[in-house]
Amino acid sequence: MKHIVITGANRGIGLELVRQARSKGYAVTAACRRPDTAEELLALRDEHRNLDVLPLELSDAHSIDRFVHELDGRAIDVFINNAGIYGQRDATLGNVDPEAWHRAFQVNTIAPLILTQKLLPQLRDGAGRRLAYLSSKMGSIADNTSGGSYVYRSTKSALNQVVRSLAEDLKPDGFIALALHPGWVRTDMGGPNGLIDTETSAAGLLSVIESATAGQSGQFLNYDGGVIEW
Ligand code: NAP
Repeated sequence: MKHIVITGANRGIGLELVRQARSKGYAVTAACRRPDTAEELLALRDEHRNLDVLPLELSDAHSIDRFVHELDGRAIDVFINNAGIYGQRDATLGNVDPEAWHRAFQVNTIAPLILTQKLLPQLRDGAGRRLAYLSSKMGSIADNTSGGSYVYRSTKSALNQVVRSLAEDLKPDGFIALALHPGWVRTDMGGPNGLIDTETSAAGLLSVIESATAGQSGQFLNYDGGVIEW
């Protein structure tokens, strides 16, 4: 049974990724900050075998270490770094808060790489060798024709660079690393006006991750498989 690790698994796109990965027959490790209050995720765990819920706070180095330790050397086939924050909502010119920017970089950019680094031995033990990072079209420089959103945009652009380097560095080991845009999705982050629901987004993302070829590693892909300009 293939083992998939998904972060930010208690709500939004992450929760639906867990649901669909379980339906597809993966053993799932679902990471979230507060398992004790993750009611929907705990209900899923009670319904399914092979679904473990572990605590993970991406802004806390000790929590990352504990998470890796609790995975206890298990091989990982697919890693989806889904957790992310928008950070400062009103990060307009003249108003950017450096502390909020630091926090968003920690969660959206730094932690995904640090977690990947620490999980590498277990990822190398897996046969799947797929790494997926939830980026955003807001991080596309080519797509930025409206300005603003300095905090969120910059953390996702930087995450894209991280993914490119991972793709190059891990190519000899047969890994496929992808930066993924989930669509504009109706979640707490995406809001009620999003264009698609979490079911559509998660189904697309899993399909893209599973079908990606070595030649696509290092690409920035939409949930429907289309290429997004950097
Ligand atoms: P969401 O509903 O806001 O959920 C975010 C998830 O990330 C939650 O599980 C949250 O946990 C977790 N998280 C936040 N800070 C964390 C931290 N410090 N440590 C660990 N986990 C943390 O977001 P979403 O809409 O599902 O988005 C998922 C991903 O897609 C994000 O990376 C987002 O940037 C990206 N994205 C979303 C959209 C969209 O339209 N929704 C568009 C483009 C990209 P808590 O419940 O504990 O806060």
